[in-house]
Amino acid sequence: MPRPPRWLKRLLLPAWNGGHRFTRRAVDYLDALRLRRFERCACCGAFAPMLYRRRIIPPRLAELWGLSPRLVEAFARKESCACAACGANLRARRIARVVLDLYPVGDPPALARSLSSWAEHPEPHQLRAVEVNRIDGVHECLTKLPRFIFSDFREDVQRGTYAHGVRNEDLCSMTFPDSSFDLILTSETLEHVPDLAAALADVRRVLAPGGRHVFTVPLLPGVDRTFARSVVDADGKLRHLTTPICHPGGDVGYPVFTEFGSDLPDLLRLMGYEVEVHFGPATEDDVAQVFVARKPD
Ligand SMILES: [Zn+2]
Repeated sequence: MPRPPRWLKRLLLPAWNGGHRFTRRAVDYLDALRLRRFERCACCGAFAPMLYRRRIIPPRLAELWGLSPRLVEAFARKESCACAACGANLRARRIARVVLDLYPVGDPPALARSLSSWAEHPEPHQLRAVEVNRIDGVHECLTKLPRFIFSDFREDVQRGTYAHGVRNEDLCSMTFPDSSFDLILTSETLEHVPDLAAALADVRRVLAPGGRHVFTVPLLPGVDRTFARSVVDADGKLRHLTTPICHPGGDVGYPVFTEFGSDLPDLLRLMGYEVEVHFGPATEDDVAQVFVARKPD
């Protein structure tokens, strides 16, 4: 078959891509309608369809992780079911819901309808909050808080300094003073930290008494004991203890150091936290739990 001339391809490709994107979006919306996935978003407050995307969990990751088809769907719900208005996925919206529960606003104190409206009340403006790694949907709301700090980790940037307006912090050894935060938020971050115990200890150090670390991690139902998948040796080299896995691709992305099991609350208690698990326990159909680790008064 003769190849189409290049100019024709150039002309048609954007339209073809656009059509493809439109079809995908239409299918996502129809699915949300069919499955009645319309709800009030706990982040932005819009009443919107929550768009499920099965393809967000790549087959290679499912294979390496040994996920059953049911678990793949549960993880896909956690990572997608994204609010069509603000993009917050299920785990982000659940984090928002937990924050709303923990910090009621107004007089008498009541639950705010969304994190966005919550952040406009005067009470949260007193809150010293830090988000380590961006949580889409949650991040946009928290930036309304005057004492909010957003941090990310880059190995090529000095810790405690700012690159492009973002503070650089390593969760295992943050540069913040002791007892400097009321609220620390992380989502799908702790599994990528090379030294989990160091990270949990440092989070506890920078939390003020009564302060909370609200977070999500990937947790496999049926795994009883948290285990290390990879470690970093004293010479700085990455060593795999079992099949290496990266997120999000399976083979590509950020290496996973810790695989969490149902003993996570016990580990947190051993590290000196009071623990609450919201939306738990993890089952084959729901893996989007939110953990609250509170530093005792
Ligand atoms: Zn939203």
